Amino acid sequence: MKEITCKLLVIGAGPGGYVCAIRAGQLGVDTVIVEMAKPGGTCLNIGCIPSKAIIHAADDFAKTVAMAAGKNAMGIKADNPAIDLAKTMAWKDGITVRLTLGVAGLLKKAGVKIVVGRAKFRDGKTVAVETETGEQVIRAENVVIATGSAPVELPMLPFGEKVVSSTGALSLTEVPARLAVVGAGYIGLELGLAFAKLGSKVTIVEALDRILPLYDTQLTQPVARRLAALGVEVLLGTKVKGLSSNGEALLAETGSGEEKRIAADKILVTVGRKPVTEGWGREELELDMDGRFLRIDEQCRTSMRGIYAVGDVTGEPMLAHRAMAQGEMVAEIVSGKRRSWDKRAIPAVCFTDPEIVSVGMSPDEARAAGREIKIGQFPFSANGRAMTLSAEEGFVRVVARADNHLVLGIQGVGAGISELSAAFSLAIEMGARLEDIAGTIHAHPTQSEAFAESALKALGHALHI
Ligand code: FAD
Ligand code: NAD
Repeated sequence: MKEITCKLLVIGAGPGGYVCAIRAGQLGVDTVIVEMAKPGGTCLNIGCIPSKAIIHAADDFAKTVAMAAGKNAMGIKADNPAIDLAKTMAWKDGITVRLTLGVAGLLKKAGVKIVVGRAKFRDGKTVAVETETGEQVIRAENVVIATGSAPVELPMLPFGEKVVSSTGALSLTEVPARLAVVGAGYIGLELGLAFAKLGSKVTIVEALDRILPLYDTQLTQPVARRLAALGVEVLLGTKVKGLSSNGEALLAETGSGEEKRIAADKILVTVGRKPVTEGWGREELELDMDGRFLRIDEQCRTSMRGIYAVGDVTGEPMLAHRAMAQGEMVAEIVSGKRRSWDKRAIPAVCFTDPEIVSVGMSPDEARAAGREIKIGQFPFSANGRAMTLSAEEGFVRVVARADNHLVLGIQGVGAGISELSAAFSLAIEMGARLEDIAGTIHAHPTQSEAFAESALKALGHALHI
């Protein structure tokens, strides 16, 4: 096969890689992207999008079940609800197909050449791709490593028929009667809640003494209450041991040494993800590492000239929007623009029930950084829109410097609060002060009014509480 030469080669077409390639193509950079699976990477095919589709379907189903049980204050009735999970999965697959075809189309429109196959470095400027029709050698002035991450497997619970990763859980065609979930982080709680709503008896086993360790307990309390209301058993401070000898149950040990036998039809292991740092010829290069991740600087440059890295392979937080922002920046740098990482905050959203959003510093983080702070918190129970949505659980909390009122962090928990993350991020990115948020007219009736009220509260004169 004839060698390809290009200015920019991107390895991996997940959110980091495909955004980098699209932007580079838009800027007229001669760009090639290599992907061994499907465009869109983890996020579009087996991550963000499919999980949110299943979470939404589970929500709708749970609401219908509640109506059928007469638990609907609005007087809506339903009869004998049922779910055909195979059909739900087909609907979800339809969304991922549309999106991945869309990504391929956008790459094409930007003039990017797509090569399908596994890429492997031969040296810092040369990559060989195993394609279906043979080896394709690509020589590039610049290479971006965007190989993403993969689920962590526990040695005593190898993935298989019964023990599944998020990928397996997102392709089940029947609702497991009993589901054990190992790990109460992002995926364990998002999918654990969804399967509980779909009808599974869910037990969650978490090694630490709290759920969602990334967020403070005030934010996670409403989620803990919802788990309890759905009958989900949460075993905190508990370590998994493996499968029982007949393979029917998950064995675990609590902090006090009590043996637990959790009968399960499926076991979902969600104990984190690991960067994909093998399988693409790292051994041919001399790349510095930062723990298990590739080390990068504020321009996403690795320790080798002309080699960049973006996305999950470069560190926490392993989030799609961080990967995309890095990819866009690197494309501009390669095209000759002066850019470096200048983001004030990366929003984190957990699509639990209710949803949690955190942007910037939490009160504890601000105090630990030596800041004197003001905190304003406004509950959705005092927000008219939340009442009309039957979504009164939760609050918005703003953290600001006590001296000049510069907003350091904004957090919240509540149904649908993920959509407020944009306002929260914008406020921090624009360097807003409490007065800016309080002085902005927020449309009525919307949940966003809780944001303005939280700023007013911090200023000492909330209006609706
Ligand atoms: P990836 O998306 O992992 O893409 C890497 C790509 O590189 C893959 O397509 C892979 O096939 C390809 N590749 C690897 N090696 C090679 C090679 N040698 N040759 C060719 N191709 C190669 N994040 C959020 O922000 N919000 C969410 O709601 C969210 N939900 C998630 C839900 C689940 C169940 C999971 C698993 C993850 C979720 N994430 C979410 C995380 C998000 O998916 C990742 O942060 C994001 O996909 C990282 O993008 P990336 O480009 O770094 O890597
Ligand atoms: P996670 O890091 O969010 O949570 C893992 C949990 O497993 C932690 O609570 C940890 O204490 C626990 N744990 C670790 N080892 C254990 C063991 N042996 N037994 C019991 N518990 C154990 O990891 P995840 O849920 O697998 O998600 C991986 C990553 O994917 C996330 O960190 C995030 O970057 C990304 N993600 C993001 C979103 C989102 O943005 N909404 C959704 C899903 C995934």
